Amino acid sequence: MSAPPFIDSLDFAKNGQQISGEMLIADLLRLSDVLENSQGVLRFTVQGSLNKYGVPMLVLSLSGSCTLRCQRCLGSLDYPVTLETTVLLRSQAELDALEESDEEEYDSILAQVKLDIQDLLEEEVLLSLPIAPKHEVGACQTTNRDDAGKDAKHPFAALAKLKT
Ligand SMILES: [Zn+2]
Repeated sequence: MSAPPFIDSLDFAKNGQQISGEMLIADLLRLSDVLENSQGVLRFTVQGSLNKYGVPMLVLSLSGSCTLRCQRCLGSLDYPVTLETTVLLRSQAELDALEESDEEEYDSILAQVKLDIQDLLEEEVLLSLPIAPKHEVGACQTTNRDDAGKDAKHPFAALAKLKT
């Protein structure tokens, strides 16, 4: 099942609707810059609800895996994605007022009639990824030709150092 791309966010939240499905990593174009490859699938659920103050919200759950690039050896690094987060739906006027207080437990987004679910979920995944992912110490990949002591001669080793 593929995701319906848009929901009427306020209506969805007020009626307690829920959708779930799968997204291909390959379809998440903004993620492609930070991933080593485009393999993988993310399962998601979006549950609409109202919080105790009656503010419409969306509870987002995601699980799956993606492949990051280790910043030490530039090898591929399987990274499990599991996140659950809540976003509150606000009008533009409410959002403007919020910027002054900025003391909310959850992020707020603009309540849209055509909210792009995939875009929202992709944003949450991006925010959850580590900035400089690395293998566990000692688990970095070395090629057969270069033993660990000759890392400096590996063309990518120099690049890796520039990035850190
Ligand atoms: Zn590594």
